[in-house]
Amino acid sequence: DSSLREEVGARLRDIPDFPKPGIRFKDMTPVLADPRLLSRVVDAMAAPFQGQRISRVVGVEARGFLLGAPIALKLHAGLVPARKPGKLPWRTRTERYSLEYGEDALQVHEDAVGPGDRVLIVDDLLATGGTADAAARLVTQLGGEVVGFSFLISLDFLPGRERLGRDKVCALLSY
Ligand code: 5GP
Repeated sequence: DSSLREEVGARLRDIPDFPKPGIRFKDMTPVLADPRLLSRVVDAMAAPFQGQRISRVVGVEARGFLLGAPIALKLHAGLVPARKPGKLPWRTRTERYSLEYGEDALQVHEDAVGPGDRVLIVDDLLATGGTADAAARLVTQLGGEVVGFSFLISLDFLPGRERLGRDKVCALLSY
């Protein structure tokens, strides 16, 4: 609801020139630190996917882990960490994605998702959609179905929503 959006918006902190000059970073840690607000945020991010038989929530490193875990509990789904290369201990699948300068990659364990899984992808913020799209490709590669994406924040002046498919993307706040 709009009062929740206002409270979250008021608590987000804009950090100029982080992590690099020219980038304005939205710091969501004050939202995590407020137990009542965090609880409402988790409820709101899970709500559109209640009753959609989600079997796995993929949380994207690292802030997606923090929101993904309580959302998975709400949806009675398993939790899957999508991690940067070299962090997961067992057999992995990898999808690369491009950054403004250079590229990065995400990995999941090979048995973390399988045919028949209905998957929700969770992260704190949607910008270009490159990261979430790589997470979605990992799910598809392993035979799972991407039911949707849930973000705390979407930067709608960037093409992330179109890239992922408008109807699949939910975000509590849009800028
Ligand atoms: P994209 O791949 O959509 O361009 O970028 C999204 C990824 O970058 C997410 O994993 C997100 O956590 C991170 N990210 C980019 N900009 C910001 C920001 O301003 N604030 C936060 N909290 N995360 C950001």
